[in-house]
Amino acid sequence: MTHEGIRFASREQQQRESAENRPLSRIAVTPDKVRVLLTEGKGLEIDWKDGHRSAWSFAWLREACPCATCIEQRAQEGRKPGQPKPKPTNLLPMYTAPAKPKSAQAVGRYAIQFNWLDGHSGGIYSWEYLRRVCQCGECTFESAEPSGTPN
Ligand SMILES: [Zn+2]
Ligand SMILES: [Zn+2]
Repeated sequence: MTHEGIRFASREQQQRESAENRPLSRIAVTPDKVRVLLTEGKGLEIDWKDGHRSAWSFAWLREACPCATCIEQRAQEGRKPGQPKPKPTNLLPMYTAPAKPKSAQAVGRYAIQFNWLDGHSGGIYSWEYLRRVCQCGECTFESAEPSGTPN
């Protein structure tokens, strides 16, 4: 009997995958209040039915666009949702305005869509996707990769 060819995922990896794919209860992915802070240019805030509260900046949301093109681009560049593109170091820094949407609209009862000022609008941000990428301290701590003990 040989174990050749069998690969064991590390414990951390298994935990991380289960955290990313864990089933969410219905109330956890149902928004109670949705605030798009367009005029302030701040971002999106959602109060969920289960009492949880999430907030994202527009810049973060633009880099987390869930359309096929952006997902593929992020995969190629090894970026996580919301992670900005690395700045080229060999060029003079150019000012680029932070991403902002012109408008936002509900998509059925399950998602929100942004019309970004750069012309992009293909991403449909489902409530479930947004809940899974919640940026609050609690959620990012849960899904954080284990790192060395900070001193
Ligand atoms: Zn996109
Ligand atoms: Zn959270």
